[in-house]
Amino acid sequence: MSDCLFCKIINGQIPSLKVYEDDHVYAFMDIMPLTKGHTLLIPKTHCKDLFEMPEEVARNLYAAAPKVANAIKAAFNPTGMNTMNNNGESAGQTVFHYHLHLIPRYDEKDGLKVEWNSRQAEFPTEILTEIAGQIRENL
Ligand code: 5GP
Ligand code: ZN
Repeated sequence: MSDCLFCKIINGQIPSLKVYEDDHVYAFMDIMPLTKGHTLLIPKTHCKDLFEMPEEVARNLYAAAPKVANAIKAAFNPTGMNTMNNNGESAGQTVFHYHLHLIPRYDEKDGLKVEWNSRQAEFPTEILTEIAGQIRENL
């Protein structure tokens, strides 16, 4: 898409620090890294977000993910890695070309705080059963 920042990165109109490329995907350094080695993996086919991603694009994207993740792991010896993908403004998406964040983790002092505040009490088994059914009905 001509006015898309990440499409411009793929076609070289905007410079980036490439770490990997194949026929289907492009991986490059996030310009505002959360930790050392924070990399973005994107499909070469423009799609806005996960909701609009064709199955084949997803297949090709995830086929490359372990390769890039393992290169980051081999380079910096992180103790873990968060993969993250924001879809929609309310989820924190700021660039509307799908991207998978590969964020290596080091230790509790790596500066990144990911908080999971479980609301398990609000979702007992009966409610969860109903919710699962509602999702299944829409597949
Ligand atoms: P989002 O918030 O949409 O999940 O993530 C967008 C990411 O793209 C951010 O982490 C941001 O640092 C990164 N980013 C935004 N503009 C550029 C750019 O021009 N070059 C690179 N390499 N990364 C960018
Ligand atoms: Zn794009």
